[in-house]
Amino acid sequence: GVGKTSFSRELAKAIFCKHPGLDACDTCNNCQRIASDNFSDLFFILPEKNSRVIKIEQLKYFQDILKVKPLESKYKMIIIQSADKMNEEASNCLLKTLEEPPSYAIIILIVTSLESVRETVRSRCQIVRFSPLSVAVVKNILVNQFKLDNKQAERLAFISNGSIERATLLSGTHALEKKNWLVDRLLKLEINDNLTFSKELFNEWHIQDLDILEEKRSHVKELLFSFLMYYRDLLACKIGNDKLPIYHTDWRDALAARSRLLSEDVLFRILNTIKTSLEYLDYNANITLLLENMITKILHLQCDQRMSS
Ligand SMILES: [Zn+2]
Repeated sequence: GVGKTSFSRELAKAIFCKHPGLDACDTCNNCQRIASDNFSDLFFILPEKNSRVIKIEQLKYFQDILKVKPLESKYKMIIIQSADKMNEEASNCLLKTLEEPPSYAIIILIVTSLESVRETVRSRCQIVRFSPLSVAVVKNILVNQFKLDNKQAERLAFISNGSIERATLLSGTHALEKKNWLVDRLLKLEINDNLTFSKELFNEWHIQDLDILEEKRSHVKELLFSFLMYYRDLLACKIGNDKLPIYHTDWRDALAARSRLLSEDVLFRILNTIKTSLEYLDYNANITLLLENMITKILHLQCDQRMSS
């Protein structure tokens, strides 16, 4: 999301370019084929569609590729995306190769969190860290490369957590409209909304229509982030005396008014509830239930407080 895959591709160009200098030329046959995923000594391995993890069969394939010498250059480069998403079996398989790689192998593992890579694997890698991009950088890329208008680019950049991938994903799915709807709706949320709210949410966010679990999961993840941002804004209004920056600047007054109805303690507890749901999301098969439970909990937290005050 912050450029790891693009970086690997640029690295591949630099290695295989026919006119190597400080940088790849971007015009030679090799550079062009790398750009179009059509170079025989460069391989990408990533979770298959509808799966979150790299499977053992893919690692076996990876080992088979490596057994064959490079066809048209000195190296064979394999880029494994989401290498932190592997089960024990696949991870062992990878480790075996990392212990004794062929001399022509360049293996790149792309991970989001280093903590989820086993120490035995990690210790055999050279680690390059990528920081999230700043809001200004993401905004510029969105304006210049994706031709979004200034205001929209700024908002998307702000909610993308420094990830271009996430920002472009958001721009393509009516994300802003859905987010705006959610903020409006949350501002009007009432005690007796418990049953209707979940239904409305599933409809407005088109979660009901998705059959594929992984697609559902990624939509719900975006939804949970939106919840997080809304309640984070309430907390910022509550404790920041209007001085802390908030995500939803257009709603500042309404958010401030709403935040007066809730205590800091309740807001923290709601934020925790959302964070816990986010953590469970990757491991839970019944996403609808997870979401319903979260909403019920949030409503209870909000209402208990309002009844007692
Ligand atoms: Zn080149």
